[in-house]
Amino acid sequence: MHIEKYNDAILNCRFCFMCRHLSAIGNVRHTEADTPRVRAAMLYGLRTGTNSFDDTDFVDALYRQDLSACCVRHCVNHFDENGLALAARADVVEAGKEPEAVRKLAAVSSPTF
Ligand code: SF4
Repeated sequence: MHIEKYNDAILNCRFCFMCRHLSAIGNVRHTEADTPRVRAAMLYGLRTGTNSFDDTDFVDALYRQDLSACCVRHCVNHFDENGLALAARADVVEAGKEPEAVRKLAAVSSPTF
């Protein structure tokens, strides 16, 4: 899986709340699922088998991330939680579990001739 390249972010971000104030979507929604810590925890759960891309709430949280990379920029250890999110989305797509809206957009953006 693509997320395996970001093990350091999964293992460290899941216990860290230092950059949650920099997560734009977290500030808009005021939900823990929209912070780097909980996204990393959910992806750790994916690795251990306690979470799955069959959970649409989990997948939706991955796609809500704003991908500003603000958290990476200000992380003292530069754990790439932004790269982790992109890798997770790649894994979602490869599993065929992307949201319908994303599937439609990809079809429009990649017409077949
Ligand atoms: S990116 Fe850095 S500051 Fe943010 S949750 Fe991960 S380890 Fe903590």
